[in-house]
Amino acid sequence: MVICKSDSCPVTLENKCCWGCDLKGSCKDACDYNPDICDMAVYPDQEEETAISEFVQQHMAVFKAVRDVVIQKKAAEAQEKALKDQLKQAMEAHGIKAIDNEILKITYVPETVSNTLDTAKIKRKYPTVAAECTKATPKSAYIKIEVKEGE
Ligand code: SF4
Ligand code: SF4
Repeated sequence: MVICKSDSCPVTLENKCCWGCDLKGSCKDACDYNPDICDMAVYPDQEEETAISEFVQQHMAVFKAVRDVVIQKKAAEAQEKALKDQLKQAMEAHGIKAIDNEILKITYVPETVSNTLDTAKIKRKYPTVAAECTKATPKSAYIKIEVKEGE
């Protein structure tokens, strides 16, 4: 797979070049440059492919552990949401605004409207202001993980 050094794909979130992508024909975000001359393409050589293959074999147990944790976390989050919804409805039904006991401290937060700046609109309508008010913040490196369906 040819890697793109530019922004990652907004659809698959991978750093792959559009020119090898099955979705290119129908994708509105597809890149029209040529990877041979765009200066952004990285062609993995055989040595790198072998290194990746060895890395995958060495870390398969970690991959499986991460997958299991992600699945457990999703299930726990879904259960947490269902239980909180249940409690919220019960508090609303009984007109209770707060509970503080030896197990939990619960505060009922009523429905509200949050106002946020539409940064995309500001960038579109006032690009100069957006540029002047943009600050660069260093971010630590991290990895993004997507658990494949049915794995
Ligand atoms: S063609 Fe579209 S989906 Fe495919 S890599 Fe490019 S941006 Fe992503
Ligand atoms: S052609 Fe170049 S800029 Fe466009 S997606 Fe491929 S590597 Fe990136």
